[in-house]
Amino acid sequence: MSSPSVLVVGGGPAGSAAAYWLAREGHEVTLVEAKEYPREKTCGDGLTPRAVLQLLDMGFDFDVPHFHRVTGLRSYAGDEYVELAWPDHSRFPNWGGVMRRSDLDAQVAGLAREQGVTILEKTIATPIIEDGFLTGVTLDHNGTRDVATPGVTIIADGSMNRFGREMGNERRRDYPLGMAARGYYASPRSTDPFLESQLDLRDSSGATMPGYGWVFPLGDGTVNVGVGLLSTFTRWKQVNTTHMMADYVTTAPEYWGLSEESRLTKPVGGKLTMSFSKGPLVGANWITIGDAAGAINPWNGEGISYAYETGRIAADHVGRAVGTADFGLLRRYPQQLEDEYGLYYKMARIFVKLIGHPPVMRTLAHTGLRSRSLMEWTLKVMANLLDEDEKHMGERTYDALAALVRTLPTS
Ligand SMILES: Cc1cc2nc3c(=O)[nH]c(=O)nc-3n(C[C@H](O)[C@H](O)[C@H](O)COP(=O)(O)OP(=O)(O)OC[C@H]3O[C@@H](n4cnc5c(N)ncnc54)[C@H](O)[C@@H]3O)c2cc1C
Repeated sequence: MSSPSVLVVGGGPAGSAAAYWLAREGHEVTLVEAKEYPREKTCGDGLTPRAVLQLLDMGFDFDVPHFHRVTGLRSYAGDEYVELAWPDHSRFPNWGGVMRRSDLDAQVAGLAREQGVTILEKTIATPIIEDGFLTGVTLDHNGTRDVATPGVTIIADGSMNRFGREMGNERRRDYPLGMAARGYYASPRSTDPFLESQLDLRDSSGATMPGYGWVFPLGDGTVNVGVGLLSTFTRWKQVNTTHMMADYVTTAPEYWGLSEESRLTKPVGGKLTMSFSKGPLVGANWITIGDAAGAINPWNGEGISYAYETGRIAADHVGRAVGTADFGLLRRYPQQLEDEYGLYYKMARIFVKLIGHPPVMRTLAHTGLRSRSLMEWTLKVMANLLDEDEKHMGERTYDALAALVRTLPTS
């Protein structure tokens, strides 16, 4: 093949966004995706206002039947619950959505294609490494093999990160990792305008489980149901998310109509790589984005918006590097991520350590739900929707959380 200036490995949110922004600036981009669109991706399918902003900026068409708009979040623990609208913000819209990833990702890849990106589906990329340098990329498609020698390779191969791992990408073990499972159910309440999260999970015997549950309505007679937990939970290694899912379905509010009979798909699980736990993020002629970089927000497990955002930020650096033939400019990318997310993710690591103790999680959930104003503020922090003039609160939270964590036993 004739080698493009930029090769993107992986056509999820991160890869498609990076390809879109580079092509829009006139760069020659090829994106390779192992699967064929529309392709499944294990996910809760939830989009916050941060994700919606990125989609709006790329000209995404929300006026499609498989996009379900949501106005906020309902949280509950035991009998206490609160419904909160997404906050008004100077940058972000005050609405979110739910859309199956098969539809969402195909549509965003289509936007990249419209900008001139060449998309090679059912093509698996493998790095060619010589003396520690990425000298080319092997592309396997239907039994045929090609070699590309792009100027820059963008690694957007998701949490499994096989391409990245061959390049020496590793996960920091002292940073949190998430584990989650989801399945689809038929539900009479699928047009609910709220995402719902259960903050105090119990098994069928009423015992506390170290995690959280969600029901995200898709607006088409179905809902996405899932459970998740963090590696900071003390019993993390003994937990089976499929069993957690089964228990959650029996204890979730009746109005969703969840049961073995309404189950449409088997639960499928996946890992959530968070807090920029992966690295190195950049090399001489490559750069890493999205889940491959561990970009998921540990506060709430949201990864789609951070995949779009890191893809866009990386595209800016790659565009400059390719445009000036000065690949040293790629090295500025990690610092920009630190500037954008450093303090916020540092606070998150402390927070998730704190809620790793089920009694703390239970107490925080019940205390929070009794105060609407506290929950409004919590939603803004957890969804990273604090406005510029509210950011100083973030720093104070960090100090308060740090002080609290120091009083806890180490796990
Ligand atoms: C159970 C679960 C629920 C979640 N719920 C939510 C949610 O509700 N909201 C939210 O915002 N986030 C959620 N997330 C996180 C979200 O799914 C990810 O953060 C997001 O998909 C990251 O996008 P990405 O582009 O980095 O990676 P991916 O979406 O994983 O895309 C990577 C792509 O690369 C391709 N690929 C991999 N290797 C190669 C190769 N060698 N050659 C070619 N192609 C390759 C893969 O086929 C894939 O299409 C959830 C995650 C899980 C596991």
